[in-house]
Amino acid sequence: SAFALTEVHAGSDPANMSTTATPAEDGASFILNGEKLWCTNGTRAELLVVMARTPSKIVAGKEKRQITAFIVEVGWPGVEIVRRCHFMGLRALENGVIRFTNVRVPRENILWKEGSGLKLALITLNTGRLTLPSSVTGCAKAALEICRRWSNERVQWGVPIGRHEAIAEKLARMASTTFAMEAISELCAALVDRGGYDIRLEAAVAKMFNSEAGWKIVDEALQIRGGRGYETASSLAARGEEPIPLERMMRDYRINLIFEGSSEIMRLFLAREAVDRHLQLAGDLVNPKASAGAKLRALVKAGLFYAAWYPRLWFGAGYLPSFGEFGVLSTHLRYVERSSRRLARMLLYAMMRHGARLERKQMTLFRFVEIGAELFAMTSACVRARMLQKRGEQGEQAAALADHFCRLAHRRVEASFRAIFHNDDDATYRLSQRVTSGEFTWLEQGIVGLNHALREVAHTIPEVPEREPVHS
Ligand SMILES: Cc1cc2nc3c(=O)[nH]c(=O)nc-3n(C[C@H](O)[C@H](O)[C@H](O)COP(=O)(O)OP(=O)(O)OC[C@H]3O[C@@H](n4cnc5c(N)ncnc54)[C@H](O)[C@@H]3O)c2cc1C
Repeated sequence: SAFALTEVHAGSDPANMSTTATPAEDGASFILNGEKLWCTNGTRAELLVVMARTPSKIVAGKEKRQITAFIVEVGWPGVEIVRRCHFMGLRALENGVIRFTNVRVPRENILWKEGSGLKLALITLNTGRLTLPSSVTGCAKAALEICRRWSNERVQWGVPIGRHEAIAEKLARMASTTFAMEAISELCAALVDRGGYDIRLEAAVAKMFNSEAGWKIVDEALQIRGGRGYETASSLAARGEEPIPLERMMRDYRINLIFEGSSEIMRLFLAREAVDRHLQLAGDLVNPKASAGAKLRALVKAGLFYAAWYPRLWFGAGYLPSFGEFGVLSTHLRYVERSSRRLARMLLYAMMRHGARLERKQMTLFRFVEIGAELFAMTSACVRARMLQKRGEQGEQAAALADHFCRLAHRRVEASFRAIFHNDDDATYRLSQRVTSGEFTWLEQGIVGLNHALREVAHTIPEVPEREPVHS
């Protein structure tokens, strides 16, 4: 089967989709029209889950757009597999563009109920956001193995390259980050297996953190392999060297930061979760357009809440000798505990400073998300190390890996905290808008005009031949 959500004009914002399912006169079916992009498995699937816009509803006097999920059979009249798409990596992926022209879909083929499509899509994505962190951990492990061997084997300047500090540093970071990545994906999986837990936030953190950490690992692995990292496996084999496919790993890996919710969308989702509660409580207080009455009501509501909430953010176990059972890792857990409260305080200060504008201050918001993700990763690493130690499995090594990961994460967290109120965000945003307005196009001159030349010949580039014809 395949999942058809994305369209040419609806990527990260699927609510913007234009595929429609209009109720037919018989009342027993819908007529589906539209085109879906990048459907994985779409060129092979027999069944499709298609998201389409159904007639809007009026709720409390306002129009509410409805997106509904339909089960569609590829063999039905009007379903056309237009083409197979080809990518930088994942060359074996059967992924295509699918067009629907007046396809009659029986009403009973609605998944869940009319209007619940987006919710269903988000739940489906949750699964991907749990499997992906685990698969990218697999990539990190493979990269680590490649680099461990190469750092011992490859001798330059008279010593194995793993002894040179620049490579040694990368190796240590790769190992401890791989440990943290595994800790995160295992912890999330355990939470899901236990049941009765809303995993959306952890799944989003795991997807974002692991995909990005893994990308850095693959990048550094390529660097450690030097020119051989950039050479294809078949070329290496032809020269009689071990065909280690790092360049392919890099091509295949990159999409992990884009699909199943891009890194930016994960940050937005997490930031909104963090800020929404405050905006609901005190939004009117900091909204210059709110009436005096609304401000007063918000003041009472927020006052009651923050009077109990805020003091708790100053006192906690993080200042006391605690988490003793974690041994050398206890200092890290105390830091996590203190920093979680500091994070909540800073969020409140940021809201007071930026008011309702905070929702649009992505550079600031994303720092909060990064701190939260690092703290989650630190906790996961410490807990996993402790679990392995309790089981009598690699206890000391696991603690060493977790300790190293936490030391580095601690520095990143401190840097992010500092940058919340000391940054160049406004200057950066202003400059970016001058870039998009075309003010600096002169900077793009002085090259042979690759973009222009490519556009000129684009229509003459032959399509990659199909191995077998796609059905239509
Ligand atoms: C190999 C592959 C397989 C895929 N498989 C499927 C599939 O099976 N089914 C399916 O339906 N789709 C599939 N997709 C689509 C995939 O989910 C989308 O690529 C993804 O949702 C992003 O959409 P987009 O590419 O249109 O990027 P856009 O939404 O156009 O985003 C472009 C950039 O802007 C950023 N951005 C967007 N909005 C914001 C914002 N509000 N704030 C900050 N930054 C923002 C994004 O993070 C991204 O960096 C696949 C794509 C690929 C490449």
